[in-house]
Amino acid sequence: MRGESDTCSRTFDVLIIGGGVVGFSIGYGLLQRGVSVAILDGTDRDFSATRGNFGMVSVSNKGFNNIPYFRLSLASRNLWPSLADEVHDRSGINPHFEGRGKVYLSMGEQELADRVSHIQEFLLRAGDEYHQEILSKDDLDHLLGHVGLGDRVVGGAFSRLDGSVEPLQFYSGLFRAYLSQGGHYFSSQIVRKIVSKNASFSVQTPSDTFSAPKVVIASGLGTPPLASQIGLRLNVRPERGQIMVTERIERVFNYPISGFLRQNVEGTIMIGSSSEYNGFDDHTSVGVLTGLAKGAVERLPLLRFVQINRCWAALRPRTDDGYPIYQESQQRPGAFVVSCHSGITLAALHARLLPRWILDDVKDNLLQPFGTGRLQDECAT
Ligand SMILES: Cc1cc2nc3c(=O)[nH]c(=O)nc-3n(C[C@H](O)[C@H](O)[C@H](O)COP(=O)(O)OP(=O)(O)OC[C@H]3O[C@@H](n4cnc5c(N)ncnc54)[C@H](O)[C@@H]3O)c2cc1C
Repeated sequence: MRGESDTCSRTFDVLIIGGGVVGFSIGYGLLQRGVSVAILDGTDRDFSATRGNFGMVSVSNKGFNNIPYFRLSLASRNLWPSLADEVHDRSGINPHFEGRGKVYLSMGEQELADRVSHIQEFLLRAGDEYHQEILSKDDLDHLLGHVGLGDRVVGGAFSRLDGSVEPLQFYSGLFRAYLSQGGHYFSSQIVRKIVSKNASFSVQTPSDTFSAPKVVIASGLGTPPLASQIGLRLNVRPERGQIMVTERIERVFNYPISGFLRQNVEGTIMIGSSSEYNGFDDHTSVGVLTGLAKGAVERLPLLRFVQINRCWAALRPRTDDGYPIYQESQQRPGAFVVSCHSGITLAALHARLLPRWILDDVKDNLLQPFGTGRLQDECAT
């Protein structure tokens, strides 16, 4: 990605540490308020969940045990169409947001029975805002465009709450839209030190020093050591996900199939993604990829004849309880941490709701449950 190298002004209204989708969504939103923003990013060799994700805007499977998280995800999904249009207009890159819903396929009667009770309970907990309906195998096949479902599929469900986006196009579009609005981006600026003095922060990298009255740490897996410098102790651990991509074929199914299959606009099919805890190892593994391929063919037998062209693994930044963190430091007011493992789903909310919190100290009610207080107290620096 293109970055600025020479010294222009090194003082901004807001510094964002981390140039993944979370940092850019916040940065883009802040620019709409007319402030100056600089994103300080690492290098292409760093771990990047943004460059390896599946592109789902997921709502119907979020927050079964935490309804505020369901509401947060739903609010973001509702903000997605306008963000996607804006990014398209300002960058010329279409992120291809589709908000028509998602299909779940149940493999066997027990899985279907479990889904029925899961939906009933979700409805009780979340109320009318929730939507997921059970469909027969025939109805699902019809909805998907007569793709031909595997023998073990006995039925499933549809939710209109979910959406999807072309993740890399969204990220490039967001990057360009951010630059077009006057945002600054500095690559290869790995932040080592954050110092606060006289209501301003000085952020130091091996080669430069930047300053601003507000700092947002949105550094994915690099967040904890920076957060501890502003008095926030939190854990963000790597959750590996593996994905395979097929050759391009004509459009064969109309909706993403939960957590497993999604056809991109240009015709490739994404298969994945797995969920594994294996430290900072971001290699693919034959065992997991074989399982993904088998699962895909079991659901859609026509995939047996489609070639896999590419596979990769990437690491999601996962907080201890899996829910997002939106926290301002009490010890260093003006310094914020944002971390989440569904940065695509929440991108629209980050662009629209976080600027008010960061600039005006008004934290939307939707964000209130997601401070670090639920995990542990602030630590001393
Ligand atoms: C396989 C997979 C599938 C996924 N599927 C989905 C999905 O379908 N839907 C969804 O919503 N989410 C999905 N996600 C999760 C989503 O990709 C992440 O939530 C999101 O990318 C996190 O973005 P981020 O900006 O926080 O972190 P990252 O993308 O990891 O970016 C962090 C950035 O911070 C920089 N950085 C780190 N330390 C420093 C430092 N000290 N100084 C300067 N810069 C620093 C790094 O260089 C990097 O650019 C998936 C993730 C994976 C891995």
